[in-house]
Amino acid sequence: MRNKRDYYETLNVSRNADESELKASYRKLALKYHPDRNSGDKESEEKFKEASEAYEVLRDPQKRNIYDQFGHQGLEGSGFSGFSGFEDIFSSFGGIFEEFFGFNSGSRSRSRVQRGADLRYDLTLSFMDAAFGTETEIDLQKMETCASCEGSKCEPDTHPETCRQCNGTGQVSRNQGFFTVRTTCYQCNGNGQTIPHPCTACKGSGQVAIRKKVAVKIPAGVDTGSRLRLTGEGESGIYGGPPGDLYVFIHVEPHKFFERDNTDVICQMEISFVQAALGDTIAVPTLNGKKTLKISKGTQPGHLFRLRGEGIPSLRYGKRGDQIIQILIKTPTHLNKKQEALLKEFAKIESSKLPNKLKNILKNGLDRASN
Ligand SMILES: [Zn+2]
Ligand SMILES: [Zn+2]
Repeated sequence: MRNKRDYYETLNVSRNADESELKASYRKLALKYHPDRNSGDKESEEKFKEASEAYEVLRDPQKRNIYDQFGHQGLEGSGFSGFSGFEDIFSSFGGIFEEFFGFNSGSRSRSRVQRGADLRYDLTLSFMDAAFGTETEIDLQKMETCASCEGSKCEPDTHPETCRQCNGTGQVSRNQGFFTVRTTCYQCNGNGQTIPHPCTACKGSGQVAIRKKVAVKIPAGVDTGSRLRLTGEGESGIYGGPPGDLYVFIHVEPHKFFERDNTDVICQMEISFVQAALGDTIAVPTLNGKKTLKISKGTQPGHLFRLRGEGIPSLRYGKRGDQIIQILIKTPTHLNKKQEALLKEFAKIESSKLPNKLKNILKNGLDRASN
């Protein structure tokens, strides 16, 4: 079992800390280790989860009581298992994050905490990089929570105010003939709050456009159509919501010699008709350099040879496919006198080996031979 830290120690509060002390302390830690600000940083992620779990327990008098008496084991015995991930934390603390970021949702149940948008990036890889895997950096443009206002949209040290038009309800009533129509408040767009001093850094939007270099590890065996997910590298969430994810779509460039069929690598090799007839050993380029291939006697055009394990690793299992070599046979074109004489001699022997019936056809033509 993992050794868990003491919850009071995690939140850096005394054992008799009250509700507001706990909250203040958790706020500090949550803002510091929020995944939005530390995307991809495993240590911050752990700290964020640890603090969230400590706060989840200590803010609940019943759980706190059990913990005070029986510690971590007591909680586990009562069925508490902590959080499974960010989504879990945000869905359970959504309201608290709104508060942390300066927006008190009050009694309205509508939560404005939103997960950030997912992003797509198209990455083109060479054939070899896709086969062996690689590490690369991509230049990403995205929206991120404004550092100056921490996403609250308010100039530092100012706060949103309850909308005077709708008294914070987000809706206004209008008389239209006999009816009273309720519509979204035009002053606050239904938020119930207005911002008297919008943050100057982000012009009150709470987000700023940034460019960021993101390191991407490409596993061996990716192919066109493969999709990699980088958790938390999408756009920032709204009002403290979790960030979205980044999806990297892979495109693999063709290779001048190799083709690919799933995990198999296919290539063509040209040999002379003499090599095909007599057999030979030839050198074949593979992904791992040259390998020898034994051409058997009497190899026919189009024959497929297979070099086991010389293909591309499977993304899922890591096992490598094969290299398949298709044989093309070259017909000689510029024969010298001696070669020609030898081939004629060869042909004579070949034809003497033909069955008698076929010899007659060759000599006399089809009509007379059939008689
Ligand atoms: Zn701002
Ligand atoms: Zn309003």
